[in-house]
Amino acid sequence: MKTALSETAVGAVLSQGARSLAAAGLPAARLDAERLLGWALGVDRLGLLIEPLRQVSPHAMERFREALERRRRQEPIQHILECEEFGGLVLRTGPGALVPRPETELLVEWVLEREGREGPWRLAVDVGTGTGAIACALAVRVPHLRVLAVERSPAALALAADNIASLGLRARVELLAGDLLEPVAGAAGTVDLVIANPPYIRSADLADLPQEVRDWEPGEALDGGPDGMAVHRRLIAESPRVLRPGGWLLMEMGEGQAADLSAAMEAAGFEAVGVQQDLRGIERMIAARKR
Ligand code: GLN
Repeated sequence: MKTALSETAVGAVLSQGARSLAAAGLPAARLDAERLLGWALGVDRLGLLIEPLRQVSPHAMERFREALERRRRQEPIQHILECEEFGGLVLRTGPGALVPRPETELLVEWVLEREGREGPWRLAVDVGTGTGAIACALAVRVPHLRVLAVERSPAALALAADNIASLGLRARVELLAGDLLEPVAGAAGTVDLVIANPPYIRSADLADLPQEVRDWEPGEALDGGPDGMAVHRRLIAESPRVLRPGGWLLMEMGEGQAADLSAAMEAAGFEAVGVQQDLRGIERMIAARKR
């Protein structure tokens, strides 16, 4: 069904768009409509709201109509806008990589605190970089840090390459194609930080994810195997080879995984295991130091 957009003034078009999105079950319908109309017109949200009587051109109306139809099918707004903010940066996004999320911004903040206390750190590895979000945010915030960003998905590699280049970070963020720590084997014993947002949804729970995640985001960025911790366990086993003594492994994780991962890290010879909650109070990240 196509959304009927009979009005042509911004304020009225927005109301019609928001109603159409709400009817498709989208919880933030009004905000989504504002972002999509702003995008269609090439103005920011504020520019849109201060001129409710501005006329929407037929061309912008067509762009908005198409965007609404995509959003009504639960396509993530970041796939439609092709960008998302992360840690103060604007990153290019698309179906090839997980859309960067606020909880991962907290992971970056957690690293920065630690680096401030214990640094300067020189070399970090971001495993499964996706859009390059973590690697780019760290490189921007820590000017003396070099980041090796590893990714195996060709579609994600293309997005990450784009982001690294457009943020002017090519001198300090090196993109490497390959699986987990395999491409950085040559850095054995020299890495200050291994960081990752690994897939952590249990395979059996994938079907319960919100439709816009389940149907539109890459399964390999979400599916953490039977207990959701398959990739974490590999990183716990393999990162001591590349970390220097005193170097840190820091990972995002899913609800209820903290106890198992703490035990696995201790068993692998890590010390100072720490867990941090996200904004909803869920234990969301874990860090430990190589002895
Ligand atoms: N936080 C994501 C979600 O629940 C999952 C990300 C991940 O598996 N690393 O949508």
